Amino acid sequence: MAQLFLWTSNIIAVIVIILTIKIRKIKHELTKIIQCLYTCAIACILLNAADVLPIGETGSVLLHGLYLAATDWLVIVLMVYARRYVRINFGKKLTIAFCVLALADTISLVVNTFTRHIFDSQSASIGNTNIFVARMKFPMYITHLAVAYLPVIIVLVIFGYKVFRTTKMYRTKYQSVFVSLILIVAANIGYRFLKTPIDISPILYAFMAISICYFTLYYVPRGLVAKLLSHTLNDMDNGIMCFDREGKCVYVNAVIKRLFNTGDDLSKIEKNYEAWKNGRKPEELTEESWRDDKMLNGEMNYFYTTFKPLLDENGNHVGAFFVSENHTRDILELKKQQYRALHDKLTGIYNREGFIERVSRTLEQNPEADYTMLCTDIKDFKLVNELFGEKRGDEILMQIADLLLKNTSRGTIYGRLGTDRFAIFMRTELYHEEMFVEYAKQLSKLASNDVYHMVIHVGVYKNVNKQHSVATMCDHALLAINKIKDDYQQIVSYYDEALSQNIKNENQLIGEFDKALTNGEFCMFLQAQVSREHVVQGAEALTRWMHPDVGMIPPVSFIPLFERISLIHKLDMYIWEQACIKLKEWKEQGKTDMYISVNISPKDFYLVDIYATFTMLVKKYDINPANLRLEITETALMADINKQIELIEKLRAFGFAVEIDDFGSGYSSLNTLKDIHADVLKLDMGFLSQTEFKDRSNAVIDAVVTLSKQLGLSVISEGVETSEQVDFLTKTGCDVFQGYYFARPMPVKDFEEKYMNNVVSE
Ligand code: C2E
Ligand code: CA
Ligand code: CA
Repeated sequence: MAQLFLWTSNIIAVIVIILTIKIRKIKHELTKIIQCLYTCAIACILLNAADVLPIGETGSVLLHGLYLAATDWLVIVLMVYARRYVRINFGKKLTIAFCVLALADTISLVVNTFTRHIFDSQSASIGNTNIFVARMKFPMYITHLAVAYLPVIIVLVIFGYKVFRTTKMYRTKYQSVFVSLILIVAANIGYRFLKTPIDISPILYAFMAISICYFTLYYVPRGLVAKLLSHTLNDMDNGIMCFDREGKCVYVNAVIKRLFNTGDDLSKIEKNYEAWKNGRKPEELTEESWRDDKMLNGEMNYFYTTFKPLLDENGNHVGAFFVSENHTRDILELKKQQYRALHDKLTGIYNREGFIERVSRTLEQNPEADYTMLCTDIKDFKLVNELFGEKRGDEILMQIADLLLKNTSRGTIYGRLGTDRFAIFMRTELYHEEMFVEYAKQLSKLASNDVYHMVIHVGVYKNVNKQHSVATMCDHALLAINKIKDDYQQIVSYYDEALSQNIKNENQLIGEFDKALTNGEFCMFLQAQVSREHVVQGAEALTRWMHPDVGMIPPVSFIPLFERISLIHKLDMYIWEQACIKLKEWKEQGKTDMYISVNISPKDFYLVDIYATFTMLVKKYDINPANLRLEITETALMADINKQIELIEKLRAFGFAVEIDDFGSGYSSLNTLKDIHADVLKLDMGFLSQTEFKDRSNAVIDAVVTLSKQLGLSVISEGVETSEQVDFLTKTGCDVFQGYYFARPMPVKDFEEKYMNNVVSE
């Protein structure tokens, strides 16, 4: 019997050792603690088995004491395991307290070998083997029992609590460990009633450790996984349905139920599946994907569905499943982005890209019809913003969009091309000029006050040539506006062939520009400027294009064009240099009292470094800067007033004379006078050519001349054509005259012949 016990203990110990090694590779947060549990169980088994070994009384007492100590540590490990398994964070201090108690008990049990205060030995025999039996001594034995049993009670309470408190789904997880613990404890208590001389509880500890190990590391409650999977599948945005080989629907998740509105009756889905298979045998089905758009809760949802056949390891068809991935969010986001890319943020109507795309589509879908393209432009919209504020400016743009939205017929496309430019594309038969004149008038009222009256121009390209791109159609309509740009009365203007011819001519001029410049086709003409005493003081340099085929082209035909396409600076720099070359020549002839004034286009300020260019020129040709006068228009000055004030100061400090050209043609002439310190004021021709209200304009001229004098500026009047004008201007105090009355612009050679002797001209 004793031998049987010994062998059984050893075999179980060996099994537990093997298990301890085996679980080494399992990656689980509790693997280590279960290994500790196994180790304690092995210690208990082996130390307890020593009871039947003939090792003498003292040895037996010592080993039995160590066995009892091992049970202390076993239950502490059990307690640590329980806390971690059920994941409770408290009780750490309690565990430490029990560790201290177990340590004290261990020492006390070792000391017991000599003091026998906990237990003593008593011999008994099984068969003919003498075995060791401990005789407990109270009350000290009670302390050991307390240290060994209290943690067990705590562990049972922890598990019991968890089993009753946890959700049903997770109960199985704790239940299995809890029940195996109860059984072991019950067996442990039960065997004591058998009153066997041999303590078999370590064997029960081993079983407990094995069952804990199994439930913790290996066992996965089937119901739990199924439930978790089912929850996962139902909570997904994606739809899932599975069919067996026979086409029976074995699973659908909630999304599919909603999509097919099936409830628990899956026959509808099976019918759908049959229809989808369309007579194909299971083995003929291959993986496929497609897009499905379906209404869900009244909203469109976009699914990408994939069908996959399920095959076993031998490649036999065992079933199939569909996964419908819900891409609604992505697609809606994409649509939003597309919408944003094609619509104007402020007004919500098409932007340039959207408009062009939409018109192109219409032309593709219905190429037979006749169409008309309209573009609108608000004259000086910048002023609206300045006078009424940007907010009001935005409001006006929104109101225009609103008007288009409410008043255009179906099939008409409209959009906002740029800041204040709108485009409308419509069937020609729907276009009525009066309608747009009326709209433009209505809109003008949105931003008008005593000083400003908003004007909207409409450019119309009727019966568009469909070979043209949409952008070109818009350009044509906008070009039509150019014709009436400065007209406050005419609202609608049409694109026509003449305009197109004009553009062709312009394009030709642009194409020939570089060659003309190198061939010297641009000639400097000089127009004399004479004093009150009718003595020529100097001249304004005015350009003429001596075209080999066309003849002389006046500056009005190319200067505004070159300004528009930013070529002007090349021409201006060329003329400036011509003027300097001439001044140098005069200087070498000893004629240093004649000046030349050159024009600086408003665009030049953006395209060249004015100061650097002019200072370089006078240094290069070694001329007196006072002989080179610079005409800067009032509009150019006002564009960036602070920068211009600084520039003019620098130019004057260097010695140049600065003239304010076209004074009186801008809208803030008085401000110009106030802010700019120039040398000369050139009165705009417009003042002199006035036929109506002559008295009033003369009064203005008189006042401006007087004011200029007070500000230290000398005054040149341009466009002087009659002797009356000369008389009047002389009376007002004007210093210098320029005009046909004295001389027209002429080639330099003629000018030199006529005036270089300072002859009075008349
Ligand atoms: P602007 O600077 O105001 O030049 C005066 C213009 O008035 C010249 O026209 C001149 O011929 C014209 N004019 C002079 N006296 C009279 C007159 O008594 N009656 C009338 N009806 N007209 C008179 P032009 O030469 O045709 O030049 C026109 C404009 O072209 C100039 O106006 C100027 O702004 C621009 N321009 C001419 N050459 C150049 C140049 O080389 N560079 C730049 N940037 N602009 C130039
Ligand atoms: Ca000028
Ligand atoms: Ca002028």
